[in-house]
Amino acid sequence: MSPGTVRVRFAPSPTGFLHVGGARTALYNWLFARHHGGTFILRIEDTDAERSTEESVRAILDGLAWLGLDWDKGPIRQAERMDLYRASAERLLAGGRAYWCLCTPEELEARRKEALAEGRSPKYDGRCRGRSHRKDDRPAALRIRTEPEGETVVEDLVHGPVTFQNADLDDFILVRSDGIPTYNFAVVVDDAEMGITHVIRGDDHIPNTPRQIQVYRHLGLPLPRFAHIPLILGADRARLSKRHGATSVMAYREMGYLPDAVVNYLARLGWAHGDQEIFSLEELIRHFTLEKVGNTPAVFDQGKLDWLNAQYLRTADPARLADLLAEQWVLTGVPAEVVTATEAAWRAAVVVAFRERAKTLRELAESSCFLFEVPVPIDPEAAGKHHTPEAGALLRELLPRLEALPAFTAAALEACYRGFAEEKGIRLGVVAQATRVALTGRTVSPPLFEIMALLGRERALARLRALFPAGNPLSPSVGKL
Ligand code: GLU
Repeated sequence: MSPGTVRVRFAPSPTGFLHVGGARTALYNWLFARHHGGTFILRIEDTDAERSTEESVRAILDGLAWLGLDWDKGPIRQAERMDLYRASAERLLAGGRAYWCLCTPEELEARRKEALAEGRSPKYDGRCRGRSHRKDDRPAALRIRTEPEGETVVEDLVHGPVTFQNADLDDFILVRSDGIPTYNFAVVVDDAEMGITHVIRGDDHIPNTPRQIQVYRHLGLPLPRFAHIPLILGADRARLSKRHGATSVMAYREMGYLPDAVVNYLARLGWAHGDQEIFSLEELIRHFTLEKVGNTPAVFDQGKLDWLNAQYLRTADPARLADLLAEQWVLTGVPAEVVTATEAAWRAAVVVAFRERAKTLRELAESSCFLFEVPVPIDPEAAGKHHTPEAGALLRELLPRLEALPAFTAAALEACYRGFAEEKGIRLGVVAQATRVALTGRTVSPPLFEIMALLGRERALARLRALFPAGNPLSPSVGKL
């Protein structure tokens, strides 16, 4: 394909947030466009005024922006293009390819039931087929006159040829009696008018495609290529839904996932390039082709997403994560003004100290928020084990040395603790664990001396002094917590 000729679109209906399936459809379209140097168009399918909301439009744009999926044209709104659909409807009507249907919803329902009861297909029975004019001002819907014989083959780039019998396609509605075009009609008018070369969408739309092909044919328009991507399933192999957990892309942001990890994960959800798992964006663009999209449903695997996110967390620029960590601290309950008062370089150092143990930014924020807590809540079991009177006496003796350290750095602290333990003939662990529990409240944390440096001399020593006040060498106050 020569560069620049590819034109694809993502066409969400703004009736909710951007969900995982929609995001993957958007991503595949975006990657395909970028791979071919083509154009990626964003079209908002908002003809259904009752279900479409501005809030959803915003949520979808925010979701795409967070993932970094920028569009070259749009957002184009169908609601602003009614003249186009009307013009095409008139062409179909003038060419005898469509007709007015005056059947009321009640009549249609009664006939549908009757057909089902008699074991016939419940499709529209073509009663109004002979009608080319509306009658007085009774509500009328415009129906397509489908080809009664033969078959329509969808040449799908993912699934191969899928054949439909035209006799099974009914004369579906193109324009409803309120003048609003249906999805199957508007989508064709738009895809043709926008010069879409490849329609890449979820394979739940395969049954719509032969209907859309009929519209293309009736309007004398060339067909685009179709690529229907298999659905995403939950671990129980049912279609991914809220009951499987978060399905909104922005919920992943809130849970502390990185957009590049989510993009990498979604790209691999139904597409493969050998057995490579981690891809830079450039690699995804370079390798993405529709031939490598699988034709069986993909199963959403939270564990794999967590694993990928942890990989990205470990390698991302700490300066970038520093700001994201700030957001997460606020979400975990650290007051915003406290977070704002921290320096970016300090936050970046926290990232480096804590990220090895975290799968998400949320976990990173939760495991590090004790840095702000005054007083830090102490696990009683840890205190009982490590804050013995002996350890307390040793820490009291160590405190003045920590106060006097010229620089409160991890290296200087380590040298000080080691020298002290050697001098006293004790294991480093005795004073180190007692300090860790006092500062973090727990027995497990990132390396102690890094934590001390991050807390800073003032806060670290204040915590130690609070637990082991001078002048009371035999009974550390910790026993009274
Ligand atoms: N608005 C449709 C949807 O959200 C678009 C389907 C298509 O891409 O044709 O499912």
